[in-house]
Amino acid sequence: MHIVMASSEAIPFAKTGGLADVAGTLPIELSKLGHRCSVFLPAYQTAKQYVYERPGIQIQESVASLVVDLAGYPVHAWIHRVNIPGVAVDFYLVDQPMFYDRHGLYGDSHGSFGDNCARYCFFSRAVVEAIERLGLPIDIIHCHDWQTGLIPAYHRTQTHQHSWYRQSASVMTIHNMAYQGRFWGPDMALTGLDHGYFHWEWMEYYGDLNLLKTGIAFCDALTTVSPTYAREIQSQPHGCGLEGLLSSRSDRLFGIVNGIDDSIWNPASDPLLAVNYSKETWKQGKAACKRSLQESLGLPVRPDVPLIGIVGRLAEQKGWDLIVQLMHWWIEHRDVQWAILGSGEQRYADALFQIAMKRPDRISLQTTFSDPLAHRIEAAADIFLMPSLYEPCGLNQLYSLRYGAVPVVRSTGGLADTVCDASDEHLSDGTATGFTFIDYTPEALADATIRALEIYSQSPEVWSRIVTTGMGQDWSWSRSAKAMLDVYEQARRFASSDNRL
Ligand code: ADP
Repeated sequence: MHIVMASSEAIPFAKTGGLADVAGTLPIELSKLGHRCSVFLPAYQTAKQYVYERPGIQIQESVASLVVDLAGYPVHAWIHRVNIPGVAVDFYLVDQPMFYDRHGLYGDSHGSFGDNCARYCFFSRAVVEAIERLGLPIDIIHCHDWQTGLIPAYHRTQTHQHSWYRQSASVMTIHNMAYQGRFWGPDMALTGLDHGYFHWEWMEYYGDLNLLKTGIAFCDALTTVSPTYAREIQSQPHGCGLEGLLSSRSDRLFGIVNGIDDSIWNPASDPLLAVNYSKETWKQGKAACKRSLQESLGLPVRPDVPLIGIVGRLAEQKGWDLIVQLMHWWIEHRDVQWAILGSGEQRYADALFQIAMKRPDRISLQTTFSDPLAHRIEAAADIFLMPSLYEPCGLNQLYSLRYGAVPVVRSTGGLADTVCDASDEHLSDGTATGFTFIDYTPEALADATIRALEIYSQSPEVWSRIVTTGMGQDWSWSRSAKAMLDVYEQARRFASSDNRL
């Protein structure tokens, strides 16, 4: 199959979140399965820097140049082709310095960029023109999030403009319903689409233009990043206002859990760890990693004390309100150590700091972004907490499973699909990999964590089974890529039976 992806970020060029991992890694896995992939993304400062500073990267500048009419203003786009040695994927950077030559992808310290609607209308329109100009063979156009939500609309409504629209299908992936690309109504002019589509069934949402809604309404098939999130977004509150539209398209909505990159997140080969270990050697390996982390974080070196790890954005979504409350209760009388790494909202950093100051012998708090420390916490922790309010997919629990840090998670979205609770039933059939709870309350988090701590200290053999079951699971990208190929096939069937508008 010939697959073209359009995304506002993709590793290794530009990243703010999990979307970049999907858009950068999934095409590589698809190419390993024999399919041809091209990926379009904006030529941000970071992307250009990466291309020009890395030895070996090949760039062909201006393989196409075109003009997009943006509400009556002609704006130029230059398309550069980039190839990474050993990677059988063509990356295309859409260049327009006025829009992309800035610090930050979507905003800066003053907030979101005011011209984001124009930036991504331009990007989406440049991608569809470039596919035509470059003569790319195409069976699937795969779009991600609101930034590319217009592409399925062009694909479905402007069949007279490009012949490839008729021969291919569009797939839209939602990474997080909370971000919808909502702009004031007059921005409809930037889309170049007939104003008749500014209608509640297609692009309009309470008087605004909604680009995620546009993608959902027009695409041939829809995916999101876990089966449970696919169900959750069909009702309130997870649907964030679009639950009606999503449930009307439920026959085309599929949930596929993201993968983890085994070449980066693998305790047997991870160069960031004090000691490498596998499913067979985890006891000695994790003990050495724990000692090394305790030493470097200034925590007392005690092999016996349970070490709880937490890594994540400091945002309400990640359940910090529950964590702060639990720490308040436990800090003086529960003999556990905490290794916390989080960056983001100051209010959570302040609340955590207040507690950490009280018992520096029990809590290590780092409020920076540190990828090496994230690896070392996963390797050292006995237990990993992720009590998210909502979680479309989540990667940290997958890393925890792989690194033998038993996850304690709230049963929502991807967390519900990837962590199997250590109930009596799952312990006896050997499928337990962690501890889950349902209610978003500190009491429920405390109960689940106490269950984990009791098994950890009283039943080492049961603990060992939970650890090794988690470590043995396959959360690779090749699994996700195979599931995505099935969706592509379905999308082609839907496209061939649908009327074009
Ligand atoms: P989300 O994409 O919602 O932030 P995920 O669990 O899907 O949550 O992915 C988060 C990624 O970002 C993980 O790779 C995690 O290790 C990393 N991460 C988050 N915060 C930090 C931090 N402060 N330092 C290092 N890595 C972090």
